Amino acid sequence: MRHFAIVGSGPAGFYTAEALTKAYGDQARIDIIDRYPVPYGLIRFGVAPDHQSLKAVSKRYDQVAEGEQASYVGNVTIGRDVSVDELRGLYDAVILAIGAPLDRKLGIPGEDLPGVVGSAEFVGWYNGHPDFADLAPPLDGTHVAVIGNGNVALDCARILAKNHHEFEGSDIVGHALDALDSSAVQTITIVGRRGPHQISMTPKELGELGHLEAATPVVDGADFPPVEADDALEPGHRKSITILRDFAGTGPDASKARQIVFDFFAKPVRIEGDGRAERLIVERTVLDESGAASGTGETYEVPANLIVTSIGYQTPRIEGVPYDDRGGKFANAQGRIAGGLYAVGWARRGPTGTIGTNRPDGYEVAEQVAAAMPPGSDGGKAGGDGLTELLGQRGIKPTSFDDWRSIEAAEIAAARPGSPREKFVRQEDWLKILGR
Ligand code: NAP
Repeated sequence: MRHFAIVGSGPAGFYTAEALTKAYGDQARIDIIDRYPVPYGLIRFGVAPDHQSLKAVSKRYDQVAEGEQASYVGNVTIGRDVSVDELRGLYDAVILAIGAPLDRKLGIPGEDLPGVVGSAEFVGWYNGHPDFADLAPPLDGTHVAVIGNGNVALDCARILAKNHHEFEGSDIVGHALDALDSSAVQTITIVGRRGPHQISMTPKELGELGHLEAATPVVDGADFPPVEADDALEPGHRKSITILRDFAGTGPDASKARQIVFDFFAKPVRIEGDGRAERLIVERTVLDESGAASGTGETYEVPANLIVTSIGYQTPRIEGVPYDDRGGKFANAQGRIAGGLYAVGWARRGPTGTIGTNRPDGYEVAEQVAAAMPPGSDGGKAGGDGLTELLGQRGIKPTSFDDWRSIEAAEIAAARPGSPREKFVRQEDWLKILGR
Protein backbone atom coordinates (compact mmCIF):
# COMPACT_ATOMS: atom_id res chain seq x y z
CA MET A 1 0.00 0.00 0.00
CA ARG A 2 1.19 3.51 -0.82
CA HIS A 3 -0.03 6.75 0.74
CA PHE A 4 -0.11 10.03 -1.15
CA ALA A 5 -0.95 13.56 -0.04
CA ILE A 6 -2.03 16.10 -2.61
CA VAL A 7 -2.03 19.64 -1.27
CA GLY A 8 -4.68 21.73 -3.04
CA SER A 9 -8.03 20.67 -4.48
CA GLY A 10 -8.09 22.69 -7.70
CA PRO A 11 -7.84 21.20 -11.19
CA ALA A 12 -4.15 20.26 -10.85
CA GLY A 13 -4.75 18.45 -7.56
CA PHE A 14 -7.80 16.56 -8.77
CA TYR A 15 -6.29 15.49 -12.11
CA THR A 16 -3.25 14.18 -10.25
CA ALA A 17 -5.50 12.31 -7.81
CA GLU A 18 -7.42 10.84 -10.74
CA ALA A 19 -4.18 9.73 -12.40
CA LEU A 20 -2.91 8.14 -9.19
CA THR A 21 -6.16 6.23 -8.65
CA LYS A 22 -5.86 4.85 -12.17
CA ALA A 23 -2.18 3.96 -11.79
CA TYR A 24 -2.52 2.28 -8.38
CA GLY A 25 -6.05 0.90 -8.20
CA ASP A 26 -6.65 -0.23 -4.63
CA GLN A 27 -2.93 -0.19 -3.89
CA ALA A 28 -2.91 3.47 -2.87
CA ARG A 29 -4.76 5.84 -0.57
CA ILE A 30 -4.81 9.47 -1.58
CA ASP A 31 -5.64 12.42 0.66
CA ILE A 32 -6.55 15.65 -1.12
CA ILE A 33 -5.83 18.33 1.48
CA ASP A 34 -7.24 21.86 1.26
CA ARG A 35 -7.22 24.79 3.63
CA TYR A 36 -10.96 25.26 3.10
CA PRO A 37 -13.96 22.98 3.64
CA VAL A 38 -14.99 23.93 0.07
CA PRO A 39 -13.08 22.22 -2.75
CA TYR A 40 -12.07 22.95 -6.38
CA GLY A 41 -9.66 25.90 -5.91
CA LEU A 42 -9.51 27.83 -9.19
CA ILE A 43 -12.82 26.38 -10.37
CA ARG A 44 -14.67 27.92 -7.43
CA PHE A 45 -12.54 31.01 -6.83
CA GLY A 46 -10.94 31.83 -10.20
CA VAL A 47 -13.07 30.82 -13.17
CA ALA A 48 -15.51 33.62 -14.03
CA PRO A 49 -18.98 33.17 -12.49
CA ASP A 50 -20.61 33.70 -15.90
CA HIS A 51 -18.59 30.82 -17.38
CA GLN A 52 -20.60 28.04 -15.76
CA SER A 53 -19.82 25.52 -18.49
CA LEU A 54 -16.13 25.66 -17.48
CA LYS A 55 -17.08 25.10 -13.84
CA ALA A 56 -19.00 21.94 -14.75
CA VAL A 57 -15.66 20.09 -14.87
CA SER A 58 -15.91 19.80 -11.07
CA LYS A 59 -18.40 16.95 -11.59
CA ARG A 60 -15.52 14.89 -12.89
CA TYR A 61 -13.52 15.73 -9.77
CA ASP A 62 -16.43 14.60 -7.58
CA GLN A 63 -16.08 11.09 -8.94
CA VAL A 64 -12.50 11.02 -7.66
CA ALA A 65 -13.39 12.41 -4.23
CA GLU A 66 -16.29 9.99 -3.86
CA GLY A 67 -14.25 6.96 -4.91
CA GLU A 68 -12.77 4.44 -2.47
CA GLN A 69 -9.15 5.45 -2.93
CA ALA A 70 -9.30 9.21 -2.36
CA SER A 71 -10.45 11.34 0.57
CA TYR A 72 -11.00 15.07 0.87
CA VAL A 73 -9.34 16.57 3.93
CA GLY A 74 -10.55 20.16 4.28
CA ASN A 75 -9.84 22.87 6.83
CA VAL A 76 -6.13 22.02 7.04
CA THR A 77 -3.47 24.55 6.03
CA ILE A 78 -0.13 23.05 5.09
CA GLY A 79 2.74 25.22 6.31
CA ARG A 80 0.66 26.35 9.30
CA ASP A 81 -1.24 23.40 10.80
CA VAL A 82 1.13 20.75 9.46
CA SER A 83 4.55 21.26 7.85
CA VAL A 84 5.60 19.82 4.51
CA ASP A 85 8.31 17.85 6.31
CA GLU A 86 5.72 16.30 8.62
CA LEU A 87 3.61 15.36 5.60
CA ARG A 88 6.63 13.80 3.95
CA GLY A 89 7.11 11.70 7.07
CA LEU A 90 3.52 10.47 6.88
CA TYR A 91 3.12 9.89 3.13
CA ASP A 92 5.16 8.16 0.41
CA ALA A 93 4.79 11.21 -1.82
CA VAL A 94 3.56 14.75 -1.28
CA ILE A 95 2.31 16.59 -4.34
CA LEU A 96 1.93 20.36 -4.08
CA ALA A 97 -0.99 21.61 -6.18
CA ILE A 98 -1.52 24.97 -4.51
CA GLY A 99 -1.75 27.02 -7.70
CA ALA A 100 -0.59 30.63 -7.97
CA PRO A 101 -3.05 32.73 -5.99
CA LEU A 102 -0.80 35.78 -5.37
CA ASP A 103 -0.76 38.85 -7.61
CA ARG A 104 2.47 39.90 -9.23
CA LYS A 105 3.32 43.51 -8.51
CA LEU A 106 3.79 46.23 -11.12
CA GLY A 107 6.53 47.85 -9.07
CA ILE A 108 5.51 51.42 -9.88
CA PRO A 109 4.90 54.41 -7.58
CA GLY A 110 1.33 54.74 -6.33
CA GLU A 111 0.60 51.00 -6.55
CA ASP A 112 -0.33 50.97 -2.86
CA LEU A 113 -2.98 53.69 -3.14
CA PRO A 114 -6.54 52.70 -2.21
CA GLY A 115 -8.40 51.77 -5.37
CA VAL A 116 -5.52 49.72 -6.82
CA VAL A 117 -6.26 46.01 -6.56
CA GLY A 118 -4.72 42.90 -8.03
CA SER A 119 -6.83 40.66 -10.24
CA ALA A 120 -6.51 37.81 -7.72
CA GLU A 121 -8.17 40.10 -5.18
CA PHE A 122 -10.80 41.43 -7.58
CA VAL A 123 -11.63 38.00 -9.03
CA GLY A 124 -11.65 36.56 -5.49
CA TRP A 125 -14.07 39.29 -4.43
CA TYR A 126 -16.69 38.56 -7.10
CA ASN A 127 -16.15 34.81 -6.78
CA GLY A 128 -16.64 34.65 -3.01
CA HIS A 129 -13.08 33.99 -1.82
CA PRO A 130 -13.00 34.47 1.98
CA ASP A 131 -9.77 36.51 1.89
CA PHE A 132 -11.34 39.17 -0.37
CA ALA A 133 -14.94 39.34 0.84
CA ASP A 134 -14.25 42.79 2.33
CA LEU A 135 -12.35 44.21 -0.65
CA ALA A 136 -15.07 46.76 -1.53
CA PRO A 137 -13.49 47.88 -4.83
CA PRO A 138 -14.45 51.52 -5.51
CA LEU A 139 -17.16 51.51 -8.17
CA ASP A 140 -18.30 55.06 -7.52
CA GLY A 141 -16.09 56.57 -10.24
CA THR A 142 -16.89 56.54 -13.96
CA HIS A 143 -13.48 55.22 -15.05
CA VAL A 144 -11.70 51.93 -14.41
CA ALA A 145 -8.36 50.74 -15.80
CA VAL A 146 -7.50 47.06 -16.12
CA ILE A 147 -3.78 46.54 -16.70
CA GLY A 148 -2.73 43.50 -18.75
CA ASN A 149 -3.72 41.87 -22.03
CA GLY A 150 -4.56 38.34 -20.92
CA ASN A 151 -7.81 36.45 -20.39
CA VAL A 152 -8.02 37.47 -16.74
CA ALA A 153 -8.04 41.15 -17.79
CA LEU A 154 -10.93 40.28 -20.11
CA ASP A 155 -12.79 38.51 -17.29
CA CYS A 156 -12.41 41.56 -15.03
CA ALA A 157 -13.49 44.00 -17.75
CA ARG A 158 -16.51 41.88 -18.73
CA ILE A 159 -17.72 41.48 -15.14
CA LEU A 160 -17.46 45.26 -14.67
CA ALA A 161 -19.36 45.85 -17.93
CA LYS A 162 -22.35 43.55 -17.46
CA ASN A 163 -25.88 44.49 -16.50
CA HIS A 164 -27.67 42.79 -13.61
CA HIS A 165 -29.64 40.33 -15.67
CA GLU A 166 -26.59 39.34 -17.75
CA PHE A 167 -25.49 37.56 -14.57
CA GLU A 168 -28.53 35.28 -14.68
CA GLY A 169 -27.38 31.68 -14.47
CA SER A 170 -24.03 32.73 -12.98
CA ASP A 171 -22.89 32.09 -9.43
CA ILE A 172 -21.53 35.59 -8.88
CA VAL A 173 -21.59 36.19 -5.17
CA GLY A 174 -24.38 38.40 -3.77
CA HIS A 175 -22.15 41.15 -2.33
CA ALA A 176 -20.48 41.66 -5.74
CA LEU A 177 -23.77 41.67 -7.65
CA ASP A 178 -25.19 44.29 -5.27
CA ALA A 179 -22.09 46.47 -5.62
CA LEU A 180 -22.05 46.15 -9.42
CA ASP A 181 -25.75 47.06 -9.52
CA SER A 182 -24.96 50.49 -8.15
CA SER A 183 -21.73 50.94 -10.11
CA ALA A 184 -21.11 54.30 -11.79
CA VAL A 185 -18.53 52.83 -14.18
CA GLN A 186 -18.83 54.02 -17.79
CA THR A 187 -15.37 53.47 -19.26
CA ILE A 188 -13.17 50.44 -18.71
CA THR A 189 -9.75 50.88 -20.28
CA ILE A 190 -7.75 47.70 -20.88
CA VAL A 191 -4.12 48.81 -20.84
CA GLY A 192 -1.56 46.74 -22.75
CA ARG A 193 2.13 47.57 -22.77
CA ARG A 194 2.49 45.97 -26.22
CA GLY A 195 0.27 45.76 -29.31
CA PRO A 196 -2.66 43.73 -30.65
CA HIS A 197 -0.38 41.00 -32.01
CA GLN A 198 1.09 40.48 -28.55
CA ILE A 199 -2.16 39.89 -26.64
CA SER A 200 -2.67 36.64 -24.69
CA MET A 201 -6.45 36.77 -25.10
CA THR A 202 -8.31 33.87 -26.69
CA PRO A 203 -11.04 34.20 -29.35
CA LYS A 204 -14.04 33.00 -27.36
CA GLU A 205 -13.31 35.36 -24.49
CA LEU A 206 -12.61 38.32 -26.80
CA GLY A 207 -15.72 37.60 -28.89
CA GLU A 208 -17.91 37.90 -25.79
CA LEU A 209 -17.16 41.62 -25.65
CA GLY A 210 -19.04 42.04 -28.90
CA HIS A 211 -22.27 40.67 -27.38
CA LEU A 212 -22.63 42.67 -24.19
CA GLU A 213 -25.93 44.33 -23.61
CA ALA A 214 -24.77 47.69 -22.29
CA ALA A 215 -21.10 47.83 -23.28
CA THR A 216 -19.21 48.13 -26.55
CA PRO A 217 -15.55 47.48 -27.37
CA VAL A 218 -13.48 50.40 -28.66
CA VAL A 219 -10.39 49.50 -30.69
CA ASP A 220 -8.21 51.85 -32.73
CA GLY A 221 -7.42 50.43 -36.18
CA ALA A 222 -4.22 52.49 -36.27
CA ASP A 223 -2.70 50.17 -33.62
CA PHE A 224 -2.53 47.23 -36.03
CA PRO A 225 0.26 46.23 -38.40
CA PRO A 226 -0.76 45.63 -42.06
CA VAL A 227 -3.29 42.79 -42.28
CA GLU A 228 -0.79 40.56 -44.16
CA ALA A 229 1.24 40.38 -40.96
CA ASP A 230 -1.56 38.24 -39.47
CA ASP A 231 -0.70 35.39 -41.88
CA ALA A 232 2.33 34.44 -39.78
CA LEU A 233 0.24 34.03 -36.62
CA GLU A 234 -0.82 30.71 -35.15
CA PRO A 235 -4.51 30.13 -36.22
CA GLY A 236 -6.12 30.59 -32.78
CA HIS A 237 -4.17 33.76 -32.19
CA ARG A 238 -5.01 35.02 -35.69
CA LYS A 239 -8.67 34.52 -34.86
CA SER A 240 -8.29 36.74 -31.79
CA ILE A 241 -6.61 39.46 -33.86
CA THR A 242 -9.36 39.20 -36.48
CA ILE A 243 -11.97 39.77 -33.77
CA LEU A 244 -10.07 42.84 -32.60
CA ARG A 245 -9.80 44.10 -36.18
CA ASP A 246 -13.56 43.59 -36.56
CA PHE A 247 -14.18 45.65 -33.42
CA ALA A 248 -12.00 48.41 -34.89
CA GLY A 249 -13.71 48.17 -38.28
CA THR A 250 -17.25 48.25 -36.93
CA GLY A 251 -16.53 50.99 -34.46
CA PRO A 252 -18.21 51.41 -31.09
CA ASP A 253 -21.97 51.02 -30.78
CA ALA A 254 -23.11 54.48 -29.70
CA SER A 255 -26.35 53.09 -28.24
CA LYS A 256 -24.42 51.39 -25.44
CA ALA A 257 -23.69 53.33 -22.31
CA ARG A 258 -20.42 51.63 -21.35
CA GLN A 259 -17.20 51.42 -23.32
CA ILE A 260 -14.40 48.88 -23.07
CA VAL A 261 -11.44 50.73 -24.56
CA PHE A 262 -8.32 48.86 -25.69
CA ASP A 263 -5.32 51.09 -25.06
CA PHE A 264 -2.32 49.41 -26.67
CA PHE A 265 1.37 50.40 -26.50
CA ALA A 266 0.80 51.92 -23.07
CA LYS A 267 3.21 51.04 -20.26
CA PRO A 268 2.10 51.94 -16.72
CA VAL A 269 4.65 54.25 -15.07
CA ARG A 270 2.85 55.52 -11.97
CA ILE A 271 -0.49 55.89 -10.26
CA GLU A 272 -1.56 59.25 -8.90
CA GLY A 273 -4.36 60.58 -6.74
CA ASP A 274 -5.21 62.48 -3.60
CA GLY A 275 -5.37 59.70 -1.01
CA ARG A 276 -6.84 57.27 -3.55
CA ALA A 277 -6.22 56.26 -7.14
CA GLU A 278 -7.46 58.87 -9.59
CA ARG A 279 -5.33 58.32 -12.66
CA LEU A 280 -2.84 55.94 -14.20
CA ILE A 281 0.10 57.55 -15.96
CA VAL A 282 1.27 55.51 -18.93
CA GLU A 283 4.17 55.88 -21.34
CA ARG A 284 3.65 55.34 -25.04
CA THR A 285 5.77 52.40 -26.22
CA VAL A 286 7.14 50.98 -29.44
CA LEU A 287 8.25 47.40 -29.91
CA ASP A 288 11.95 46.74 -30.29
CA GLU A 289 13.36 43.98 -32.52
CA SER A 290 12.88 41.34 -29.84
CA GLY A 291 9.21 42.30 -29.51
CA ALA A 292 9.70 43.93 -26.10
CA ALA A 293 8.02 47.25 -25.29
CA SER A 294 10.35 50.22 -24.98
CA GLY A 295 9.21 53.62 -23.76
CA THR A 296 9.16 56.61 -26.11
CA GLY A 297 9.22 59.21 -23.34
CA GLU A 298 5.70 60.40 -24.23
CA THR A 299 3.33 60.03 -21.30
CA TYR A 300 -0.38 60.61 -20.82
CA GLU A 301 -3.00 59.86 -18.19
CA VAL A 302 -5.77 57.33 -18.10
CA PRO A 303 -8.40 58.42 -15.54
CA ALA A 304 -9.33 55.63 -13.14
CA ASN A 305 -10.65 55.37 -9.58
CA LEU A 306 -10.37 51.62 -9.69
CA ILE A 307 -7.23 50.09 -11.19
CA VAL A 308 -7.12 46.31 -11.51
CA THR A 309 -3.65 44.96 -12.20
CA SER A 310 -3.96 41.74 -14.15
CA ILE A 311 -0.36 40.96 -14.98
CA GLY A 312 0.04 37.38 -13.80
CA TYR A 313 0.29 35.45 -10.57
CA GLN A 314 2.73 33.63 -8.35
CA THR A 315 2.76 30.64 -6.03
CA PRO A 316 3.11 31.32 -2.29
CA ARG A 317 6.25 30.03 -0.62
CA ILE A 318 6.01 27.17 1.84
CA GLU A 319 8.75 26.83 4.42
CA GLY A 320 11.30 24.22 3.46
CA VAL A 321 10.27 24.00 -0.21
CA PRO A 322 12.80 25.38 -2.74
CA TYR A 323 11.43 28.29 -4.74
CA ASP A 324 12.09 29.68 -8.22
CA ASP A 325 12.02 33.46 -7.70
CA ARG A 326 11.97 34.38 -11.39
CA GLY A 327 9.23 31.92 -12.26
CA GLY A 328 7.19 32.62 -9.13
CA LYS A 329 6.70 28.87 -8.56
CA PHE A 330 8.37 25.97 -6.76
CA ALA A 331 11.82 25.06 -8.10
CA ASN A 332 11.29 21.73 -9.86
CA ALA A 333 12.46 19.55 -12.72
CA GLN A 334 9.47 18.17 -14.67
CA GLY A 335 7.45 18.41 -11.48
CA ARG A 336 9.98 16.77 -9.16
CA ILE A 337 11.14 19.02 -6.34
CA ALA A 338 12.96 16.41 -4.24
CA GLY A 339 12.61 12.71 -3.40
CA GLY A 340 8.93 12.12 -2.63
CA LEU A 341 8.05 15.80 -3.17
CA TYR A 342 6.44 17.03 -6.38
CA ALA A 343 4.59 20.05 -7.78
CA VAL A 344 1.80 20.08 -10.35
CA GLY A 345 -0.22 22.76 -12.15
CA TRP A 346 0.64 26.44 -11.78
CA ALA A 347 2.83 25.66 -8.75
CA ARG A 348 4.94 23.60 -11.16
CA ARG A 349 4.72 25.50 -14.47
CA GLY A 350 3.83 29.04 -13.52
CA PRO A 351 0.48 30.74 -14.14
CA THR A 352 -0.26 29.86 -17.76
CA GLY A 353 -2.58 27.47 -19.52
CA THR A 354 -6.20 26.47 -19.31
CA ILE A 355 -7.89 24.10 -16.86
CA GLY A 356 -7.33 21.25 -19.30
CA THR A 357 -3.55 21.86 -19.36
CA ASN A 358 -3.46 20.48 -15.84
CA ARG A 359 -4.64 17.06 -16.92
CA PRO A 360 -1.53 15.89 -18.82
CA ASP A 361 0.53 17.73 -16.21
CA GLY A 362 -1.01 15.70 -13.35
CA TYR A 363 -0.82 12.45 -15.29
CA GLU A 364 2.86 13.01 -16.04
CA VAL A 365 3.73 13.52 -12.39
CA ALA A 366 1.61 10.49 -11.40
CA GLU A 367 3.65 8.44 -13.89
CA GLN A 368 6.86 9.61 -12.26
CA VAL A 369 5.53 8.70 -8.83
CA ALA A 370 4.48 5.25 -10.09
CA ALA A 371 7.92 4.72 -11.63
CA ALA A 372 9.65 5.64 -8.36
CA MET A 373 7.36 3.48 -6.17
CA PRO A 374 5.66 0.85 -8.31
CA PRO A 375 2.04 -0.13 -7.62
CA GLY A 376 1.97 -3.12 -5.30
CA SER A 377 4.96 -1.94 -3.26
CA ASP A 378 4.71 -0.74 0.33
CA GLY A 379 6.49 2.23 1.87
CA GLY A 380 5.44 1.52 5.46
CA LYS A 381 4.01 5.02 5.92
CA ALA A 382 1.19 5.94 8.29
CA GLY A 383 -0.75 7.95 5.67
CA GLY A 384 -4.16 9.41 6.52
CA ASP A 385 -4.37 7.66 9.90
CA GLY A 386 -1.15 9.36 10.92
CA LEU A 387 -2.43 12.73 9.71
CA THR A 388 -5.69 12.30 11.62
CA GLU A 389 -3.72 11.55 14.79
CA LEU A 390 -1.42 14.55 14.33
CA LEU A 391 -4.34 16.91 13.65
CA GLY A 392 -6.17 15.54 16.70
CA GLN A 393 -3.13 16.30 18.89
CA ARG A 394 -3.22 19.88 17.57
CA GLY A 395 -6.95 20.33 18.05
CA ILE A 396 -7.58 20.74 14.31
CA LYS A 397 -10.80 19.26 13.01
CA PRO A 398 -10.61 18.43 9.31
CA THR A 399 -13.69 18.38 7.11
CA SER A 400 -14.73 15.66 4.69
CA PHE A 401 -16.27 15.59 1.21
CA ASP A 402 -19.62 14.81 2.84
CA ASP A 403 -19.21 18.04 4.81
CA TRP A 404 -18.73 19.87 1.51
CA ARG A 405 -21.92 18.26 0.22
CA SER A 406 -23.74 19.70 3.24
CA ILE A 407 -22.34 23.17 2.51
CA GLU A 408 -23.20 22.79 -1.16
CA ALA A 409 -26.78 21.80 -0.33
CA ALA A 410 -27.10 24.92 1.83
CA GLU A 411 -25.67 27.06 -1.00
CA ILE A 412 -28.13 25.61 -3.50
CA ALA A 413 -31.00 26.16 -1.08
CA ALA A 414 -29.96 29.81 -0.67
CA ALA A 415 -29.66 30.50 -4.42
CA ARG A 416 -31.47 33.53 -5.83
CA PRO A 417 -33.79 32.73 -8.76
CA GLY A 418 -31.89 31.71 -11.89
CA SER A 419 -28.60 31.16 -10.08
CA PRO A 420 -27.18 27.70 -9.39
CA ARG A 421 -26.09 28.65 -5.85
CA GLU A 422 -25.45 31.51 -3.46
CA LYS A 423 -21.93 30.95 -2.26
CA PHE A 424 -21.25 31.22 1.42
CA VAL A 425 -18.12 33.25 1.67
CA ARG A 426 -16.65 33.05 5.12
CA GLN A 427 -14.95 30.20 6.90
CA GLU A 428 -17.18 30.73 9.95
CA ASP A 429 -20.30 30.41 7.76
CA TRP A 430 -19.07 27.11 6.35
CA LEU A 431 -18.29 25.77 9.80
CA LYS A 432 -21.66 26.97 11.13
CA ILE A 433 -23.44 24.90 8.48
CA LEU A 434 -21.43 21.93 9.77
CA GLY A 435 -22.53 22.66 13.32
CA ARG A 436 -19.04 23.62 14.48
P1 NAP B 1 -1.39 36.14 -19.04
O1 NAP B 1 -2.16 35.51 -20.12
O2 NAP B 1 0.02 35.71 -18.83
O3 NAP B 1 -1.42 37.73 -19.29
C1 NAP B 1 -0.69 38.60 -18.49
C2 NAP B 1 -0.66 39.96 -19.17
O4 NAP B 1 -0.02 40.86 -18.29
C3 NAP B 1 0.12 39.99 -20.47
O5 NAP B 1 -0.60 40.74 -21.43
C4 NAP B 1 1.40 40.72 -20.09
O6 NAP B 1 1.96 41.48 -21.13
C5 NAP B 1 0.89 41.65 -19.03
N1 NAP B 1 1.95 42.14 -18.15
C6 NAP B 1 2.83 41.40 -17.42
N2 NAP B 1 3.65 42.22 -16.72
C7 NAP B 1 3.26 43.48 -17.01
C8 NAP B 1 3.72 44.76 -16.61
N3 NAP B 1 4.72 44.90 -15.75
N4 NAP B 1 3.10 45.85 -17.11
C9 NAP B 1 2.06 45.73 -17.98
N5 NAP B 1 1.59 44.54 -18.40
C10 NAP B 1 2.18 43.43 -17.92
O7 NAP B 1 -2.07 35.95 -17.61
P2 NAP B 1 -3.56 35.96 -17.10
O8 NAP B 1 -4.43 36.84 -17.87
O9 NAP B 1 -3.40 36.17 -15.65
O10 NAP B 1 -4.04 34.46 -17.35
C11 NAP B 1 -3.39 33.35 -16.72
C12 NAP B 1 -3.72 32.08 -17.49
O11 NAP B 1 -5.07 31.72 -17.25
C13 NAP B 1 -3.57 32.24 -18.98
O12 NAP B 1 -3.03 31.08 -19.54
C14 NAP B 1 -5.00 32.45 -19.43
O13 NAP B 1 -5.24 32.10 -20.78
C15 NAP B 1 -5.74 31.54 -18.48
N6 NAP B 1 -7.15 31.96 -18.38
C16 NAP B 1 -8.04 31.39 -19.21
C17 NAP B 1 -9.35 31.77 -19.19
C18 NAP B 1 -10.33 31.13 -20.11
O14 NAP B 1 -9.95 30.21 -20.83
N7 NAP B 1 -11.58 31.58 -20.16
C19 NAP B 1 -9.78 32.78 -18.31
C20 NAP B 1 -8.84 33.35 -17.47
C21 NAP B 1 -7.52 32.94 -17.51
P3 NAP B 1 3.27 40.98 -21.94
O15 NAP B 1 2.78 39.97 -22.91
O16 NAP B 1 3.78 42.22 -22.56
O17 NAP B 1 4.20 40.39 -20.91
